[in-house]
Amino acid sequence: MLLVFNWKLNPQNFNQAVKLFEAMKTGSKKAKNSVIVICPPFEHLFRILNLGAKVSNLYFGAQDCFWENSGSYTGEISPLGLKTAGVDYVILGHSERRQYLDETNEMINKKLISALSFGLKPMLCLGEDEKTHFQGEKAVNSFLKSQLVQSLLGAERLSLSQKSNLILVYEPIWAISDNSGNLADNPADAAAAIKYLKEILVADYQLPIPKVLYGGSVNSKNIADFLKYPEVDGFLIGRASLNQQQAKEIMAIAG
Ligand code: PEP
Repeated sequence: MLLVFNWKLNPQNFNQAVKLFEAMKTGSKKAKNSVIVICPPFEHLFRILNLGAKVSNLYFGAQDCFWENSGSYTGEISPLGLKTAGVDYVILGHSERRQYLDETNEMINKKLISALSFGLKPMLCLGEDEKTHFQGEKAVNSFLKSQLVQSLLGAERLSLSQKSNLILVYEPIWAISDNSGNLADNPADAAAAIKYLKEILVADYQLPIPKVLYGGSVNSKNIADFLKYPEVDGFLIGRASLNQQQAKEIMAIAG
């Protein structure tokens, strides 16, 4: 099981970030069969990395990266630089970046290809809005396929070992806690969407063992309902990752 904790732009204070990190370290020891990925905001990420004392199943992720490694790109962050600093994972295409920073599939595609080329494990977020959701499964699948194909343009030129680092996150926008008031997707529907995405990865991208996570209001009360579905390889967790107790419970349940 892959458990990814996305702290977003939280907490504000570094001491709080260290406390949260310590809680996650403790929790990760109870999740021996899972890989735990912590994604703090950049102002905490490198400081926490420097605290050292890595637990064997605990890794770090960034919440974004750029497609170039150097040059006149004020404010950007290099994929190779992340990898060199000890960051193994990166979230790409999160709906909040699409919404607030106008990230397009074209930009996300460039970031994704670059991240894969430099050995990062990108976690590509895909998901429909509420309007598409209510149009039914066919509309959702067609939206997901279009997002996926645009994001993976040129991926066929990568080696199998580079491509194999790809992780998808099925994250329906309407189910993200800030949008839904903590109401997750129906686990059976989420599993069906994940199965569909996996079929595309196998058939069109020759990825023999595709990995797809679910994201959207996952917490310690509902995670067990999703764990019943073998299609679900793990979770991207936002709000619940800021609550030490919740995060520890989630890790204990996932095991
Ligand atoms: C997210 O935004 O990636 C997310 C999964 O958030 P939450 O768990 O709060 O819905």
